[in-house]
Amino acid sequence: MRQARVDLTGVSKRYGAHEAVREVDLQLPAGECVALVGHNGAGKTTLMKLMLGLIRPTAGRVQVLGDDPAAASGAHLRRRIGFLPENVAFTNSLTGRELLGFYARLKREPVRKSMLLLDRVGLADAANRRVGTYSKGMRQRLGLAQALLGAPQVLLLDEPTTGLDPALRQSFYDIIQELRDGGATVLLSSHALTELAERADRMVIMHRGRLLANGTVGELRRLADLPVRLRLAVNAGWTEAMASRLAEMARVTGGGGPVVEATCPEHDKMAVLRRVAGLGAAVEDIDMLPPSLDELYAHFLQERGRTE
Ligand code: ATP
Repeated sequence: MRQARVDLTGVSKRYGAHEAVREVDLQLPAGECVALVGHNGAGKTTLMKLMLGLIRPTAGRVQVLGDDPAAASGAHLRRRIGFLPENVAFTNSLTGRELLGFYARLKREPVRKSMLLLDRVGLADAANRRVGTYSKGMRQRLGLAQALLGAPQVLLLDEPTTGLDPALRQSFYDIIQELRDGGATVLLSSHALTELAERADRMVIMHRGRLLANGTVGELRRLADLPVRLRLAVNAGWTEAMASRLAEMARVTGGGGPVVEATCPEHDKMAVLRRVAGLGAAVEDIDMLPPSLDELYAHFLQERGRTE
C-alpha cells in the first residue's frame, strides 16, 4: 500500500461513558476518494474531528501527513487539511469574495487565489453578493471553496451533498474527482450509500463507533457473498424446462410466462452464467442483479449484531 496520508491505529474516543469511536484502524493513501458511511451517531464526524486534531483520542494513535494533528506542532498540518463541516454557517453580511478572503488570510493563503476558487465552484458571478442571499447549493459550494483553500492534501467533507439538487451534486463530484486525480486524499461522509459508492474508490462502513467493513464495492460484495438475482427471458414453451435446468445450479425463486427468476451465491455467479449461456437459443436474455448497496450495508450490520 502507498504510504498513508491519514493513519489511525486502534483509535477510540470516549465521551464520559459513551464510546463514540471504538478501536478503529484506518489508512487513507494519497489519490484516493473514500466514502465513510453509517447511520446517525455511527461516529463519522468524530473520526473527522480526530483527523483534524480538534479532539484527542482516548486510546490509539492518529497521524495525518506523518504527524499528530492535535499536537501543538500540528498547526502547520491543519493548513494542509481542508474541511467542510456538515452544517456550514457563514456570516450573512459578507459577500462571497469577502468571506473567502477572510478564510484565505486565516490559512495564510494569497487572497487573490480565493477568487479563482470562487470561479472553480461556479460562484464567480455571485462573488460580490452577500452570502445571506445565497441559496443552499451556493452556500455549500462556498463551503467547498473554503475547504479547497491552500490546495489541501487531505480533504474531509462531512455530508457535503445534503440538500443539493442532482445537477449541483454532479458538479460537486466532478470537482472532487479532479482533486483526487491530482493526488488529494478525500474522505466523504454520507448516508447516501448508493450515490457515494459510484464515486468513491473505497467504502468504509461504521456502526456504533466500530468500523464494520472497509473495501471496494467489489471486495465488499465478495466478502458478504450475498445471493445474486438472475432473471432469464426464455422462448415460449421453454419456461418449465428452463426452470428445472436452472434448479440444478441455482435456487429458482419464481417466474411465469416467458420469465424464470433465480438466485445463486456470488461465488457461483460465473459458473451459472456459463451454463446458462450454454443452454443456447432457448434463453433470449439474461439480467443479473447484484445485491444492492443497502442490502450489503444491512448484511454487515447484521453480522456485527450476531457477534455483539
Ligand atoms: P450523524 O450522521 O448523525 O452526523 P455521526 O456518524 O457523524 O452521526 P458522531 O457525530 O460522530 O456521529 O457521533 C457519534 C456518537 O458520539 C453519537 O452517539 C453522539 O451522540 C456522540 N457524541 C458526539 N460528540 C459528542 C460530544 N461532544 N459529547 C458527547 N457525546 C458526543
